[in-house]
Amino acid sequence: KVLCATGIVAGFLAFFWKDPFNPESLSGARVLLTGASAGIGEQMAYHYARFGAEIVLTARREAVLQKVRTSLYEGRHRRFGLLPKQQQQISCQHDKFSFGTVEQNQLRGLDYLVLNHIGVTRFQMWAGDVEYTRWLMQVNFFSYVALATAALPTLEKNKGSLVVVSSLIGKIPTPFTTSYSATKFALDGFFSSLRHELIMQKRNVSITLCILGLIDTDAALENIRGKVHLTASPAPEAALAIISGGAMRMQEVFYPWWLQYTCCLWVLFPYNRDQVLQSYYNYSSP
Ligand code: NDP
Repeated sequence: KVLCATGIVAGFLAFFWKDPFNPESLSGARVLLTGASAGIGEQMAYHYARFGAEIVLTARREAVLQKVRTSLYEGRHRRFGLLPKQQQQISCQHDKFSFGTVEQNQLRGLDYLVLNHIGVTRFQMWAGDVEYTRWLMQVNFFSYVALATAALPTLEKNKGSLVVVSSLIGKIPTPFTTSYSATKFALDGFFSSLRHELIMQKRNVSITLCILGLIDTDAALENIRGKVHLTASPAPEAALAIISGGAMRMQEVFYPWWLQYTCCLWVLFPYNRDQVLQSYYNYSSP
């Protein structure tokens, strides 16, 4: 009995206990970060730089990326006194993206691929635009698959990590997000299945899927204005949760933390959950 009880306690501890995040583990880490010109991606760039990582940033708008880069160089976001050895920006569009562009840009190997970009999101009732959905799938899903596939051999060589930024809307479908929700569910399906396969093949690449709630980026706040009653969480904190979860090789990161319990409750109590969810949305039928 004592042995059994000890085993259960040890099991619980092993399940819940995780070594705390050590920012120094990121010093010198080679990171490719997509969607870094704004929002959560921009905040991640500042954190990675403070932790001494070598980062390559991507987005479409070159001038805006340049501003982020200047801000990094000016050291306004340094905390540990480490100047990143290498920070680059690549202006590219992930609906027409080839990994070759990045390889040619002198990233000598890769420890972290952080997939974060998204195409312009419409927060509205489904109006039948199938072409838009196809395009969004290309930007939010297929480009993630293509980039991850191209990076896997390099990541494997370096025992690296793949970090995929997703959303609560990729776990729980909500109104006004048909196409976006589909792209995020697709990410969960693909990358959670890939994680199994990597483990079964004993390939040492971790996959961290990040489940975020509403975050106060300009794009998100603009989208939801007047349509939903929810409080947004701060982008710098969300960015740090993603980075630390990736560095600790966690399978899933939930930010804010209580989203994990929201997902459990969603599955455990299927009755009336839709009415509760819909009550957060402003809509009066015509
Ligand atoms: P933003 O819209 O603020 O930033 C998106 C980034 O992607 C920008 O840097 C943008 O730069 C880039 N981008 C857009 N289109 C393309 C494209 N076709 N090719 C390459 N880059 C592109 O997004 P957020 O910071 O709000 O979101 C970041 C991540 O967090 C996303 O994966 C999102 O789904 C997730 N998330 C966000 C939530 C929120 O409330 N903010 C909630 C849940 C999840 P540029 O325009 O210069 O290309």
